[in-house]
Amino acid sequence: MDIHEYQAKEILARSGVPIPRGGLAYSPEQAAFHAREMGGKVWVVKAQIHSGGRGKAGGVKICRSEDEVRDAAASLFGQTLVTAQTGPQGKCVYRVYVEEGTDIAQEMYLGLVLDRKSERIMIVGAAEGGMSIEELAAEKPDALVRMVVDPAVGLAEYQSREFAFALGLAPGQVPKMVTVLRACYRAYRDLDATMVEINPLVVTASGDLMALDAKMSFDTNALFRRPAVAELRDRSQEDPREAAAQDAGLNYVGLDGDIGCMINGAGLAMATMDMIKQAGGEPANFLDVGGGASPERVLRAFRTVLGDARVRVMLVNIFAGINRCDWIAEGVVQAYRTLGITMPVVVRLSGTNVDEGRAILAASGLPIITADTLADAAREAVAARAAA
Ligand code: GDP
Ligand code: MN
Repeated sequence: MDIHEYQAKEILARSGVPIPRGGLAYSPEQAAFHAREMGGKVWVVKAQIHSGGRGKAGGVKICRSEDEVRDAAASLFGQTLVTAQTGPQGKCVYRVYVEEGTDIAQEMYLGLVLDRKSERIMIVGAAEGGMSIEELAAEKPDALVRMVVDPAVGLAEYQSREFAFALGLAPGQVPKMVTVLRACYRAYRDLDATMVEINPLVVTASGDLMALDAKMSFDTNALFRRPAVAELRDRSQEDPREAAAQDAGLNYVGLDGDIGCMINGAGLAMATMDMIKQAGGEPANFLDVGGGASPERVLRAFRTVLGDARVRVMLVNIFAGINRCDWIAEGVVQAYRTLGITMPVVVRLSGTNVDEGRAILAASGLPIITADTLADAAREAVAARAAA
């Protein structure tokens, strides 16, 4: 689960990361009020959306008067920002954050991620920030400093100092960097985060370190024990298809293609997506309907997948162990009738009660396309897509 910049800053500040003063606004008036209250001459108005790359997309505005702050906020509210990370549909701005301007001497990058290879938290830094980490890794891989933290020991001070020196910081800034690193590590570990990113972490004109941007993501499976984090969820920033599926208790990930998928088991779902691609098609989604799926659950899954207007063909692929092919078939027939489906539906059933399942499909009289193997099913779906 992702959270907003202002929320991440609040968390990190509580752990000890210095951040500029700022305030959240839901209206242009409120934004101007924050600027007046903070005082000063320069403010930055920042669109709060779950995405990086806002600066380049026009979501970060430097303002030099209260009126400019009000206008900048007014232009951001309700705007759909398309960044390098949002996809073409973009994300809508409902909140802006107003911050006092910072005099920047140097921009750096700092990120904490879970390194699956070493099974540890890895801290990544670069003395050049601003650029996205992907660009930096591609263009200047040598500029990255990496450090892996031993969970039994935690982040040691000497390690943090080594890291700070490796970034080329002046001796006076090293203890400040140590504070920032340890604060980020604590926040990451104590809140079951999966990512903390400060880009840019700046050295100010007066030589202090400050987080000008912050991002945090959290392990969704740990939210049950982090109610304070779970409360930070902002549904307006989520893919509506995925949010609806989550409410229905389905394991669903929206993709960009037009072949809708309903499959049991994550492994089979991945394999099916590969087969669709190999046959020349593009899956519209990943959906694991789970084990012991009742006809009602199948219907809900259909509803979720077909809620995506891009879907042109539906592919059902079930290898029934705990599942029962007859239940799945009943669910498919029900979905067909209840939802008034007119698009081609390809069904491949295998395993428990497969004969009963096939009999139900055949007896329904519906124009369901059946397939025997996974490869057949993928080919049929792609062929039906081409004909549709
Ligand atoms: P992102 O594009 O979504 O990563 O948004 P950022 O918060 O990182 O803002 C983009 C850029 O705007 C930063 O890299 C900074 O160069 C600049 N910026 C952000 N906040 C401030 C600020 O307080 N003062 C100044 N002068 N520049 C800022
Ligand atoms: Mn940034």
